[in-house]
Amino acid sequence: MKTIDFGGRRALVTGAGKGIGRAIAVELAACGAEVVVVSRTVADLETLRAEIGCRAIAADLEDVAEARRAAAAAGEIDLLVNNAGISIPQPFLDTTVEAFDATMAVNVRAVLLVSQVIAASMIRRGQGGAIVNVSSQASMAGLVDHAAYCASKGGLDALTRVMAQELGPHGVRVNAVNPTVTLTPMGEMAWSDPAKRDPMLARIPLGRFARPLDVAETVAYLLSDHAAMIHGVALPIDGGYLTT
Ligand code: NDP
Repeated sequence: MKTIDFGGRRALVTGAGKGIGRAIAVELAACGAEVVVVSRTVADLETLRAEIGCRAIAADLEDVAEARRAAAAAGEIDLLVNNAGISIPQPFLDTTVEAFDATMAVNVRAVLLVSQVIAASMIRRGQGGAIVNVSSQASMAGLVDHAAYCASKGGLDALTRVMAQELGPHGVRVNAVNPTVTLTPMGEMAWSDPAKRDPMLARIPLGRFARPLDVAETVAYLLSDHAAMIHGVALPIDGGYLTT
């Protein structure tokens, strides 16, 4: 039986304290990777460290210097998952500069900053690597009250394509995953109101929202050698939402 084996590989997962990032960290550890995580809330890092034995770095990736410091502190990394993200739902007409800038800083700029440090190290070591950026269906579909978030995830897909162009020749594969509503603290915050939840659910042909494990298993696949020829894609994990 073929399985994913990350034995001997070091993985960095950002935003691993809760939700999807936490599920990804657990999944990569279960596949044998040595896992390093970055997140904001120290208590979350401590419970995760107890659960999977990872190395944990506390940092706020919204801050440029902290993002660079955390990436450098992670050391030599073979597999990078840029998962940390925020959502501040606001109607388009009321979207504030503060919310827009914070969303772009975490969801796009931090991916640039962390990936610059990690990819430069991958290139220096000459053994290639793999990166997955956690985007969203919001990059491809306009969602009411999500102007800043949709813009940030559209930007992240575009960044992913450029990273694929420039890092591919060095043997570094880069892809994005684009989940639908996923049942995490962020998902509950934005979608628990039945008036928002029910119409969204009705547009998903498979009839359910995603679970963090659905995303984690897809990320593990894209990081693995089973996906050796997959490069630069934005892969929906959406139960068919984007077909409608
Ligand atoms: P959660 O809010 O449940 O968890 C996000 C994690 O990222 C938390 O551990 C959080 O730490 C951390 N984080 C947030 N901002 C920062 C920061 N500035 N610096 C360091 N760590 C940070 O989110 P999800 O798990 O739902 O989302 C994870 C990713 O998946 C995001 O990129 C999101 O956009 C994307 N996504 C989510 C969907 C959903 O419906 N849930 C759907 C599609 C995509 P702390 O709690 O301490 O702030």
